Amino acid sequence: MLVAVAGCVAQAEGEEIQRRAPFVDIVFGPQAYHRLPEMVARVERAGEGAVLDTSFPAEPKFDYLPETGAAPGVSAFLTIQEGCDKFCTFCVVPYTRGAEYSRPGAEIIAEASRLAAGGASEITLLGQNVNAYHGAAPPNGQSGGGAWGLGELIRALARLPRLARIRYTTSHPRDVDDGLVAAHRELPQLMPFLHLPVQSGSDRVLGAMNRRHSVDQYKTTVERLRRARPDLALSSDFIVGYPGETDQDFRATLALVGAVGYAQAFSFKYSPRPGTPAATAVDQVPEPVKTERLAALQALLQQQQRAFNQDCVGRVLPVLFEKPGRHQGQLVGRSPYLQAVHADAPADRIGEIVPVMIRATGPNSLSGDIAGERAA
Ligand code: SF4
Repeated sequence: MLVAVAGCVAQAEGEEIQRRAPFVDIVFGPQAYHRLPEMVARVERAGEGAVLDTSFPAEPKFDYLPETGAAPGVSAFLTIQEGCDKFCTFCVVPYTRGAEYSRPGAEIIAEASRLAAGGASEITLLGQNVNAYHGAAPPNGQSGGGAWGLGELIRALARLPRLARIRYTTSHPRDVDDGLVAAHRELPQLMPFLHLPVQSGSDRVLGAMNRRHSVDQYKTTVERLRRARPDLALSSDFIVGYPGETDQDFRATLALVGAVGYAQAFSFKYSPRPGTPAATAVDQVPEPVKTERLAALQALLQQQQRAFNQDCVGRVLPVLFEKPGRHQGQLVGRSPYLQAVHADAPADRIGEIVPVMIRATGPNSLSGDIAGERAA
C-alpha cells in the first residue's frame, strides 16, 4: 500500500506534510496529476524514498492526460478551466492552482464529442472560476478565432447531437456576462440550475473578502438570470464567522438568503487557510459564535430547500436516469434542478430522459413514478 496526499493543500504545504507525516509516500499538487504513474514507479523502486512533486509547470497538463477507453457514464465531467485570478482573502486556490487558464474551444468540443459518443447525455463543465472561461475559439468558427466566453462555448456544445444536458460549476458573480445570460435564455440544453456562490450578505464582509462585488450587484445578476430563465434554481456557498463579521453582518446574510431563495446551498464556518490574508486577521470570530450563526443559517437554507422540493410534488420532471437505486427495480437520476430522483424503472432506461411524476420528497431526494405508467 502506498499513501499519497494530493490537491491544493498538498501543493501549498508539501514539505510540512512530509515533516509531520513521514509515512506519506507521495505528495503532489494539482499540476502533477498526469505524472502519478511515474511517481508510483519511483516509490516502488527500492530505496528512492518519498516523492514530493509540487512543481508548477507552465505547460497545460491536459495535453498529457491519456484519452480513456472506458465508457464515461451517463453524466460526465469535463474540465475547461483551471486557476483563479480573484484572490479572495480566505481562499488558497490562486496560490495553489495558479492564474486562470482556459483550454482551447476545439479541444473541449473534441473531448465533449468523445464523451457523448461514449454514452454521456449530460456534461458538467468544470473550473475553479468556470465562467471566467476565455479559451481560444476554433479558427474556422463563427467568431473566426479570438476568444470564446463560456456562453459561446456552451452554444457550440449545444450543437452536439447526442448531448442533452449541459451544466457548469463553479461560477463567480462578477463573471456572469451577457453571453452567458443569453445562453440561459436560448439553450434548452443548459440546465436551469446554477451554483453561484455569494459567501456573505454584508457589503462590509464582501469587501474584506475581496469578492469584488456588492450585495446589490449579486441580486441584480440573479434578476438578470431569472429574467432569462424564469425557472432557474440557485445554489450558493456561504462562510459564516469571517474575521470581523458582526451580528449585523450576519443578519444581512440571512436577509440576502431570504430575498434570493435557494434550492440548495453549502455553508461553512470560516476556517483559516495557511498563507491567505484572512488567516492572520486579528479579529477572528469566537468558535461558539460561528457555531450559533451556522446553525441559524442552515436552518433557513434547509427550510428553503424543503420548500423548493415540496413545490416539485405533483409536477412531472424530466429525469435523466443514471444508475440503479438502492432498492430492487429502482433507478436513480437527476432532475433539471440537480435533485436526485428515485423511480421504479427497468435498467434499460438508464441513459434516457424520462418524465417522472414526483410523488414525495425525502431529506435529500425526490421520488415518483414514470409519468403515464401508473394512475395518478
Ligand atoms: Fe477564486 Fe473562488 Fe477562491 Fe475566490 S473563492 S479566490 S473566486 S477560487
